[in-house]
Amino acid sequence: MKYYANWKLNKTQKEMKNYFKQFNSFAITDTDELCFFVSSCILLSTCKYSKYSIGIQNIAPAVWGAYTGETSIEQVIECGAKFVLVGHSERRNIFFESDDMIASKLSLLQNYDITSVLCIGEKIDEVKQKDEVLSIQIDKALTKLDKIENIIIAYEPVWAIGSGLTPKTKDIEKTIKFIKKYISKKYKIDLEVLYGGSVNKNNIVDLKRIKSLDGFLIGGASLNAQDFYDLINA
Ligand code: PEP
Repeated sequence: MKYYANWKLNKTQKEMKNYFKQFNSFAITDTDELCFFVSSCILLSTCKYSKYSIGIQNIAPAVWGAYTGETSIEQVIECGAKFVLVGHSERRNIFFESDDMIASKLSLLQNYDITSVLCIGEKIDEVKQKDEVLSIQIDKALTKLDKIENIIIAYEPVWAIGSGLTPKTKDIEKTIKFIKKYISKKYKIDLEVLYGGSVNKNNIVDLKRIKSLDGFLIGGASLNAQDFYDLINA
């Protein structure tokens, strides 16, 4: 099972070092795959303290050039990142990242040996049209790709992120199946799908029962090493 931690804009290098010191002492089974998504290249340098993969939460839509404040995929790879989050709802909604921008980033990432985690999800007022919203997000994101590979989907209902709310387990299961079937039928490829949005110690056992699910993208509940380990071990 995949357990990907989205640390958002949290943790100094010192805090990360202490986290990994504690986390590395925990026993993780070989079948579990972990990645910690950090916010900047500077923090990526702390990956030397982690036994697990490190990813970045965002990259620029171009390799080099006039993109003040952005981080290039080549800088990120040089710092050891193996994964990139693309289209997280906080990027879409706070930083107005468009579907076109997300498609450009995915297209750029296809040239590198890196796994993209494409985040999709409906807003609270879109729940009734969820399948349509998700399929549009998928289509727009994949539109510029010649070949679909090294992509994992993270289904994250926007209203569930950081809210303490989650869809019913049976609804998550239905949505995961819908996403997989939609992609497989239209793009002739099977992609893995993660769930994200207020995963915590109270719901993890239930969520782990969803057979079609390949793992989790976890924000708040991954910030404390013991708490994150407890979720993995639950
Ligand atoms: C996220 O930011 O991707 C996320 C899932 O956050 P949280 O677990 O805090 O809802």
